[in-house]
Amino acid sequence: MLKLPIYLDNNATTPMDPRVLEAMIPYFTEHFGNAASRNHSFGWEAEDAVDKARKQVADCINANEKEIIFTSGATESNNLALKGVFEMYREKGNHIITVNIEHKAILDTCRHLEKSGAEITFLTPGPDGRVTTEQVEQAIKPNTILISVMYANNEIGCINPIREIGAVARKNGILMHTDATQAVGKIPVDVNIDNIDLLSFSAHKMYGPKGIGALYVRRKNPRVKVTSQIDGGGHERGMRSGTLNVTGIVGFGKACELAASEMEAESKRLAALRDKLESELLKIEESYVNGSIEFRLPHITNISFKFVEGEGLMMGVKDIAVSSGSACTSASLEPSYVLKNLGLDDELAHSSLRFGLGRFTTEEQIDYAIDHVRTAVNKLREMSPLWEMFKEGIDLKSIEWAAH
Ligand SMILES: *Cc1c(COP(=O)(O)O)cnc(C)c1O
Repeated sequence: MLKLPIYLDNNATTPMDPRVLEAMIPYFTEHFGNAASRNHSFGWEAEDAVDKARKQVADCINANEKEIIFTSGATESNNLALKGVFEMYREKGNHIITVNIEHKAILDTCRHLEKSGAEITFLTPGPDGRVTTEQVEQAIKPNTILISVMYANNEIGCINPIREIGAVARKNGILMHTDATQAVGKIPVDVNIDNIDLLSFSAHKMYGPKGIGALYVRRKNPRVKVTSQIDGGGHERGMRSGTLNVTGIVGFGKACELAASEMEAESKRLAALRDKLESELLKIEESYVNGSIEFRLPHITNISFKFVEGEGLMMGVKDIAVSSGSACTSASLEPSYVLKNLGLDDELAHSSLRFGLGRFTTEEQIDYAIDHVRTAVNKLREMSPLWEMFKEGIDLKSIEWAAH
């Protein structure tokens, strides 16, 4: 029997892999030491575990373990990257280039920096959700110190040309940061081939525990430094103080090892399931995929169903846990800013669903989801006067609505 509801929101968070939990458990109890305690075996054990995990995490993005700064997650990593670079390189310039569909942890940090005297350029991506190298290059000014472009978007999964943008940054002597939270462990990410100087990622998006993440900070060619945002005992080479979250770090390390070793087979499996889901749902009339189809993470699809009201849609699909571009699921009344900035009108943004497949998604679950969504959309359209008018061939844009 299929257990309901079905979890298809793996871009919001992933369940922890049982193998990760197993690796963590001894470090809660027997091996509880403080990794900074240098005087006894309790500390040494914890330190060894952290060293091993640091290597696993670094290997996952082809970095050196000395380049990994552990944080509480990608939100903190993004804050440390942007604020830390701005403070450290302030004399060189104050201009930062980013994109208006980045995660809030980037956008809100940029807004904060604006108040401290930073000049921020927010690029608008194309309708496919990607920025081009040319766009980035044209935005560069003499005072540009940092380019921050996400590797893959969390709402639509589109992948940016990071390697090329990184090359532009390097050519111009500008630092390159990427929020790779959705990409690491899902597609190959290599800080050297991809010309990346700083990279944020998080364990709970890749079957590890919540509350642990990392910032990669390049040590050679160029040697990058960030001003610490949390001061104290000088942990993490002075860039992030605080007793290390040993259990979290051990889990993060295991999650990275598993993701790297299983990526090739798993991404194929997920892409096949995603493609089945997508092609079946696109058989529903007036349904559209949002964002790039060609340059996209293998496990995500974001689809808008025209002439369906967002709130009704979310209630109609309550047996599957998905996320929607509609206001009713969030605190704000605005539809998804990501979809709006791609140029979607409010109506289409409201009627969108994000399907995020994951390691524990089965074909049986996908078959159920296809059926469930199809039924919900059909039912809602049967009740919709707009749908009726559309089917009668009335041009809805030509109608003068009585009340505005
Ligand atoms: C989830 C996510 C974050 C925030 O990560 P946390 O570890 O939850 O703080 C940042 N950026 C992107 C792209 C994300 O998907």
